[in-house]
Amino acid sequence: MTEQNEAQDSEKTASLNFLENIIEEDIKSGKNNSEVHTRFPPEPNGYLHIGHAKSICLNFGLAKKYSAPCNLRFDDTNPAKEDQEYVDSIKKDVQWLGFQWAGDIKYTSDYFDQLYQWALKLIKEGKAYVDHQTSEQIAEQKGEPTIAGTESPYRNTSVEENLAEFEKMRTGVYPDGACVLRAKIDMASPNMHMRDPIMYRIINKEHHRTGNKWCIYPMYDYAHGQSDYLEGITHSICTLEFEVHRPLYEWFLDQVYSAGHRPRQYEFARLNLSYTVMSKRKLLQLVTEGHVTGWDDPRMPTISGLRRRGYTPESIRRFCETIGVARRENIIDVALLEFSVRDHLNKIAPRVMAVLDPIKVVIDNYPDGKTEYVTIENNPEDLSTGNREVPFGKEVYIERDDFMEDAPKKFFRLRPGSEVRLKGAYIIKAESVVKDADGNITEIHCSYDADSLSGTGSEASMRKVKGTLHWVPVKEAVSAEVRLYDRLFNDEAPDGHKDHDFKEYLNPSSLTVINDAKMEPSIKKFKAGDSMQFQRIGYFCVDPDSTENKMVFNRTVGLKDSWAKEQKKA
Ligand code: ATP
Ligand code: MG
Repeated sequence: MTEQNEAQDSEKTASLNFLENIIEEDIKSGKNNSEVHTRFPPEPNGYLHIGHAKSICLNFGLAKKYSAPCNLRFDDTNPAKEDQEYVDSIKKDVQWLGFQWAGDIKYTSDYFDQLYQWALKLIKEGKAYVDHQTSEQIAEQKGEPTIAGTESPYRNTSVEENLAEFEKMRTGVYPDGACVLRAKIDMASPNMHMRDPIMYRIINKEHHRTGNKWCIYPMYDYAHGQSDYLEGITHSICTLEFEVHRPLYEWFLDQVYSAGHRPRQYEFARLNLSYTVMSKRKLLQLVTEGHVTGWDDPRMPTISGLRRRGYTPESIRRFCETIGVARRENIIDVALLEFSVRDHLNKIAPRVMAVLDPIKVVIDNYPDGKTEYVTIENNPEDLSTGNREVPFGKEVYIERDDFMEDAPKKFFRLRPGSEVRLKGAYIIKAESVVKDADGNITEIHCSYDADSLSGTGSEASMRKVKGTLHWVPVKEAVSAEVRLYDRLFNDEAPDGHKDHDFKEYLNPSSLTVINDAKMEPSIKKFKAGDSMQFQRIGYFCVDPDSTENKMVFNRTVGLKDSWAKEQKKA
């Protein structure tokens, strides 16, 4: 190897994450024929969240990097909690993120027959037994990490009796919870997971795929590694809390492994996000108790919620890349996720003018009834997107807070006697205001400099004034609904408080609805899911609730990270 090659090689290694290092070592050493095969194994008991996105990007990303297959496997071993709706949403989310699973979708339920046969094998070898004790009794006998457990009175039942009892379990003789099948390993093991773990329990419930064929269902620890083996998985990647399960994963594999890929489990730190809860159980509670409108509520950390909020797949993939994979637990600032979508939308989102809190400006010296079209660029970050024509007339809307009667010195927007430019159009000067009986301003009367139209090259057109305001023509304005979303929780770690329920930290103003925002007419070309920047305000997208008559917009993120500032003020 030349010096240069060596340098490049070590540079490459240095930039690899720990899993890539392992995989490259395995390929080099010829392990599993130098083949790589990963999988993403969601349980279809809820919608996927941003934590799953990290796992998806990791598993599918590694596969892509090493030109290897990645399976999508539904870990459907608990019919009491699982549903076809979840299966469908998970497929959609994985594809939307930009990934494709290898071959057909896999289901742990496809292996129920094989898993059952292997369970029989274990019983016949005296390595599994049916335990008729209650779950409380079994738990009590588990002991403590430093104190050996107590053996179950059923532990030494004969093989024949165990086969007969397991058959009764399978054929529905027993009700839920009456008994379980346990692996006979070691009740004194320092690893609690090795103290005769449960392999099968009884659930008398129809399964979304196998119907009523089974009433015994395998536990995760038993099913997972065996399914990995059946699929030829090489690197079975899961979150750190499963590290202590790894000896059990190995033990079950040892009982059945004969040839082919020998899977191995690797653990990485799960994604934790500030201001967010991520457990599916808690997300389900938010949905069923009506704290949000559904799994895809734009305030939810679910992939479907983020999609509806206006997040792009690129921005989520980029976020996952930025946070990287490691073996140490930490909490990622949700502002980083917001940054990633803001950064992407800045590059791709067309600009439009929308006024969320409109006040009418009347330009007294502008000809009555005249409409002209002014030219405005669609995206200053991407000039290839060209320009659009926006109608301009005697009356326009501006934001109420862009005008102040008694403005402080540093207020560079509109005030009596001062000038601002209307974006892409003319310079106007505030002359007087009209107020209602309560003293609220209802109209601002202005004059305009007729020579100052932007882009004409005239001296007045180049005249510098302190502020530029966005605006919408009154006559052509499109009225729309705008949903301003904020963080769902106003606490950094809503599920991290002892003696307090995470729902106590719900942000009561996580949604503000504006019913009558005004938009420039070009807004009509956008369809549900499209993103745009409302100039000077933020990034928004069209919500699927939009109708022919009324468009609905969701705020994705503001132009700047205003949360940090607001929190300081509060
Ligand atoms: P939850 O705890 O939210 O209910 P889960 O782990 O029960 O999630 P699964 O459907 O079993 O959900 O997860 C599928 C895969 O996604 C697993 O491999 C799991 O390790 C991974 N995963 C789940 N949550 C996270 C997370 N926060 N960060 C990274 N990976 C995650
Ligand atoms: Mg799980």
